[in-house]
Amino acid sequence: MSIKLLKQGLNGHGTLKPMWRQPPLKDSYDVVIIGGGAHGLACAYYLAKHHNITDVAVLEKAYLGSGGSGRNTAIIRSNYLTPEGILFYDESVKLYEDMSEELDFNVMFSQRGHLTLAHTDASLRTMRWRAEVNQIQGVNSRVIYPDEIKKLVPFMDVSDHPRYPVQGALYHPPGGSSGTTRWSGATLTARTSGAFTCTKKPK
Ligand SMILES: Cc1cc2nc3c(=O)[nH]c(=O)nc-3n(C[C@H](O)[C@H](O)[C@H](O)COP(=O)(O)OP(=O)(O)OC[C@H]3O[C@@H](n4cnc5c(N)ncnc54)[C@H](O)[C@@H]3O)c2cc1C
Repeated sequence: MSIKLLKQGLNGHGTLKPMWRQPPLKDSYDVVIIGGGAHGLACAYYLAKHHNITDVAVLEKAYLGSGGSGRNTAIIRSNYLTPEGILFYDESVKLYEDMSEELDFNVMFSQRGHLTLAHTDASLRTMRWRAEVNQIQGVNSRVIYPDEIKKLVPFMDVSDHPRYPVQGALYHPPGGSSGTTRWSGATLTARTSGAFTCTKKPK
């Protein structure tokens, strides 16, 4: 934990600047984005970053991250099945790798590795299929078996006692999780000078 974060926690986050702004709505904007989820907020950020478009309103009917963006399992990975999906998500993983530095905000991205467990022959077959497609696209992903799983996650029961024992797993070392996906989008938006409004206070 950084000293800065500890200090902010101890003083009740009193020195933190709000990440959102609620200026009065104008009659028109160059761009209006409906929805303050990760996609809407990221669009606002990249419009400013790559196209210098900052006259932007993000309209959110509830509070930031009130949709899927604030309710997901926060797993960041690129070991999907279709070539198009893999390439798309691999770019996303790379964005997360530099995001804390780019935003000067700790999005708590931790690439601790991701395991998708297979409990049946059929799912193990799918894992092999995914691993092949991943590797062709240059993504670090391979099938591993109970011995190696046990080394990675010692507390996991890989014995044949459970009704559906773990037969193997798709192992994706660059996969991980981000503790703050809900708010990283908000930070992205705050870094733009575009307008932002939301109709309810963030909870
Ligand atoms: C249970 C669950 C687990 C998931 N796990 C993962 C995961 O581990 N990894 C991963 O990468 N993805 C995961 N996802 C998917 C991911 O969360 C979504 O793909 C992503 O959050 C979608 O972002 P979004 O901005 O498109 O939508 P949302 O985050 O849903 O944002 C849409 C916003 O639009 C607002 N809105 C809607 N209509 C209007 C309107 N008319 N006017 C104003 N505002 C409006 C809503 O209030 C909402 O805030 C998960 C999803 C769920 C539900």
